[in-house]
Amino acid sequence: MRIGVLALQGAFIEHIRQLGGLGHAATEVRLPRDLQRLDGLIIPGGESTAIGKLMEGYGLMDPVREFAGQHAVWGTCAGMIVMAREIGREQPLLGLMDIAVERNAFGRQIDSFEEPLTVEVLKDGAARPFPGIFIRAPRLVHARGQARVIARLADGTAVAAVEGRWLATSFHPELSTDLRFHEYFVEIARG
Ligand code: GLN
Repeated sequence: MRIGVLALQGAFIEHIRQLGGLGHAATEVRLPRDLQRLDGLIIPGGESTAIGKLMEGYGLMDPVREFAGQHAVWGTCAGMIVMAREIGREQPLLGLMDIAVERNAFGRQIDSFEEPLTVEVLKDGAARPFPGIFIRAPRLVHARGQARVIARLADGTAVAAVEGRWLATSFHPELSTDLRFHEYFVEIARG
């Protein structure tokens, strides 16, 4: 599978490494033409305002929206923010998924934390928790329409959603050694 990783800012190298671990040579996406012939696109974690502004600067907003009309797209952390339709403030967004997201939702003392997550859509998901790594993470406020929540913290906070071939996670599967989320995304991209 040909998966691209948006490589303007943030943790794109780590996604490329995970995909490599699954046997897929991933490519870096910086310009609209880099989307040609891809089967899926990952928007990494980083800083969502910077990513959105750079996407505008490189003329990527409309080409990525068009790409997303036919293909799988996954946003992690800042990438989830960019995927969302509502974030309660002004900044450039793709606005693809029918989700509302709150940035930096976990307060100062616990800016970063780890929590095992039950994610039933993953292989062995019910039996084997996925290591959720949260870094100044957003949370899902709601998922509407076709979007549905696929992971929650123990306190009920929603932290991942899927909508057709679009995926969003508050946390960073690219920073763990568990490849199941990338495997799940490649399956979505395969269609
Ligand atoms: N706090 C960042 C933002 O709001 C996201 C952090 C991350 O991607 N790890 O854009």
